[in-house]
Amino acid sequence: MTSSEKFKTPRKVVGIDLGTTFSAIAHIDAYGKPQMIPNAESERITPSVILFDGQNAIVGTMAKQNSVAEPEKIVDFVKREMGKSKAQFHREFNGKIYSAEELSALIIRKLKNDAEKYLGEAVTDVVITVPAYFNDAERTATLHAGQLAGLNVLQVINEPTAAALAYGLDKLDCNQTVFVFDLGGGTFDVTIMRIENDHIRMLASNGDHRLGGKDWDDVIVNWVAEEFDAQHGENPLLDLQSYQDLYNRALMAKTQLSSRSRTTVVQSFNGRSVKLDITNVEFEKRCRHLLEKCKTICEIVMQEAGLTWPQIDRILLTGGMTRMPSVREMITQLTDVPAADHVSPDEAVALGAAIQGILGLLSEEDKAGKRVLPSEVRDQFSTDNGSLIKVTNITTHTLGVVLWDDAKVEEYVFPMILKMTAMPAEMKNSFGTAKANMKNAIVRVVEGESTVPSECTPLGICDIELPPFLPKGSPVELTYSYNENQLLEVIVDAYGRQNRVQIARNTGLSEGEIEMATADLQLITVM
Ligand code: AMP
Repeated sequence: MTSSEKFKTPRKVVGIDLGTTFSAIAHIDAYGKPQMIPNAESERITPSVILFDGQNAIVGTMAKQNSVAEPEKIVDFVKREMGKSKAQFHREFNGKIYSAEELSALIIRKLKNDAEKYLGEAVTDVVITVPAYFNDAERTATLHAGQLAGLNVLQVINEPTAAALAYGLDKLDCNQTVFVFDLGGGTFDVTIMRIENDHIRMLASNGDHRLGGKDWDDVIVNWVAEEFDAQHGENPLLDLQSYQDLYNRALMAKTQLSSRSRTTVVQSFNGRSVKLDITNVEFEKRCRHLLEKCKTICEIVMQEAGLTWPQIDRILLTGGMTRMPSVREMITQLTDVPAADHVSPDEAVALGAAIQGILGLLSEEDKAGKRVLPSEVRDQFSTDNGSLIKVTNITTHTLGVVLWDDAKVEEYVFPMILKMTAMPAEMKNSFGTAKANMKNAIVRVVEGESTVPSECTPLGICDIELPPFLPKGSPVELTYSYNENQLLEVIVDAYGRQNRVQIARNTGLSEGEIEMATADLQLITVM
């Protein structure tokens, strides 16, 4: 979308929870109430599964249902690949190679198209959610996915922040600390949020983006496969169709075990079959290591926040996996804190994204000095003194600069903006040149918690020409400025010269490439 089209009116903003297994979309209605938008199949959540059928991309339940019949035409779990370059991850269909962001764009297009039909108006703007610990490249890929779907992406926000917004909207006057436990299909995220004086503030966050419902599914998949192998001497997972079939059965069995004490999985392959009785007790035993991982991450984030469980007022459960009784039991045993019970685990994130979206439009109206949105809507998101509700996020990764250590004769990373700093943030520091008579000061910007440069992710470079004959240790001033959208600007100042660089993110596509890819994707009909 070009910038002239970007602010066309009327604008309609939606919030999208772009999930690993399911995605959801919400909006704010004419009365200022957050509402889910059902898809064309009348479902409130849409499986994040794509079936390529000629020039058509079928997204959602129909694609998922076809996963066994045509596994080679299916793409799922794309979220786990976000942030990877095309060389690291791609899928090819009908001679076209798709990156993770292009595939995600097709999922977003399905949500957008269905929302437009449902609402009877064009959707122009979006806020998309990501796990809090997503790094720079993963956030950028998500932003691009929204743009490739033809939307103006107002913000990419953290899922737990969105969940806390949806939960806290009507409780902004009750000061409280909320622990958001988000276990989805493929990712796990824990975040501590403080709701205080009409302000929602993120205190700490941690997670594992390769831990989620799929790992529980895999326990059943591997269990049945082992049983099959033991009985028939054959591995049913080596055949793609049989794997998909077993995977779907495992998923169903897992969900059934949330409400029953036992279930049965029958798997047929190559004319032979096994029948496995699975009890809840045995399943829980085999999944204990996964729950232990969740527990450890919860403990780490509490340590990072410097809090103890009695200081937490509410647990907010989001992500479909929190419907599993063993997950809830673990949290109760660990925390002894009541869970908020009126929040739908599948919907809170999309609803919160829609709230953040309307807050974005309202604040743009304020800046432009022209109010278009109905006053009923503004009232819902304003405090008693008329200002808009405030949301503050924190950085989830440290941003550093690579420096030279003279004593150890090696490079190291100096942290400029530490993990858990409230955004927007600005840090200044002065460094000495590493050698005499350096021609340039080259600032290498990295992201990560390690002091070893090779263990961090390089984000970019900002350099400046220096005057001749400077002695070693001549001062160079460095500023890192991080805005609310997690865009980093690096400024190097020395001897009256200055260079400012907006750190172009790693896998970032240029504006031209986005326009081309958007046009290319338009050739595909999304259903
Ligand atoms: P999300 O990514 O938040 O949509 O979470 C989806 C995950 O939650 C998938 O792994 C689902 O299989 C899982 N899930 C949804 N409902 C249940 C349930 N009742 N019991 C167990 N797992 C569930």
